Amino acid sequence: MERKLASTVVIDDLQPIEGADLIEVATVKGWKLVVKKNEYQVGDHAIYCEIDSFLPEKEEFEFLRKTSFRKMAGIPGFRLKTIRLRGQISQGLLLPVSVLSGYAYTLGEDVSAMLGIVKYEPPVPASLAGVARGNFPSFIPKTDEERVQNLSKVYEKYRQHTFYVTEKLDGSSATYYYRDGVFGVCSRNYDLEETPDNSFWKVARELDLPAKLAALGKNIALQGELIGEGVQKNPYCILAQTVRFFNVFDIDTSTYLSLETFKEIIQQLELQHVPILDEAFTLPETVDQLLLTAEGASVLSPAGKHVEREGLVIRSTDRRISFKAISNKFLLNEN
Ligand code: ATP
Ligand code: MN
Ligand code: MN
Repeated sequence: MERKLASTVVIDDLQPIEGADLIEVATVKGWKLVVKKNEYQVGDHAIYCEIDSFLPEKEEFEFLRKTSFRKMAGIPGFRLKTIRLRGQISQGLLLPVSVLSGYAYTLGEDVSAMLGIVKYEPPVPASLAGVARGNFPSFIPKTDEERVQNLSKVYEKYRQHTFYVTEKLDGSSATYYYRDGVFGVCSRNYDLEETPDNSFWKVARELDLPAKLAALGKNIALQGELIGEGVQKNPYCILAQTVRFFNVFDIDTSTYLSLETFKEIIQQLELQHVPILDEAFTLPETVDQLLLTAEGASVLSPAGKHVEREGLVIRSTDRRISFKAISNKFLLNEN
């Protein structure tokens, strides 16, 4: 699912910020952001640009230069990230609908393309990029999680469900599969050729994955997070690289295995899964409370060091609901 980076929204709420006369905090779905006082009223329509939006270098976005100028693959623009203003967390940007110059939008419409807004992607190191053997296989779902801030409409309904919670690791998505005698290694978007220096393949060889998957005797995919040296900033201070799994997918039936079977297979193959923090979790009253719960130390923090975890991945026991709650503390430290 592609992220709607910029979409038409309704301002759900506006509240003062203690000690600030010129700014206030707006609520849009589950997001909070700081705006100029009286620029918007509750119920107004606006365009909301999520964090990670990369806005083009155009006159109407020049006000972002001081805080947000960045180049992506050599192209200049403005990158939106999580900031704190007067103690208030602020995520994203509101633009007046007038920037659509009269276009007859519908609420919730994705207007990113119209405004030239794309997702900011940090550069990928060569050891992770690799050489593509093909596109990501069509017989396996790509890994992705929706942010809880975009689920405010269904959040109340979700409170009836029981969830299991895993720690979201800050690495790179890895998929290993075995299908009709063929073993494959994939990054987030590509099926990768085996090369000596590619980290995804190195881990496959070290963990003996070609033989282990073949031994299961069925068409199967294991998905996890590659972590370690050269992956993100290696926050867990791991030597070399390894992978922590979060999905086992049965290719023939096109289904994910249940948590129980998943754990069994990972154990049987002598592999490791992502930290499981809770197997019977119910959601707190509000999205804001859940976001506070997302903050905390990573299970993989090295001894004597607090590493703020990236967040939580929350899934219903029947696996039909799955989303993420990212730690705002983690996001504030991002650069
Ligand atoms: P966004 O869609 O918000 O721009 P993104 O699609 O680049 O972000 P992430 O924010 O990294 O991806 O969130 C989804 C990814 O989280 C998955 O693709 C997976 O690689 C990774 N991940 C890390 N830990 C876990 C976990 N415990 N369970 C599921 N996925 C996890
Ligand atoms: Mn995504
Ligand atoms: Mn990630």
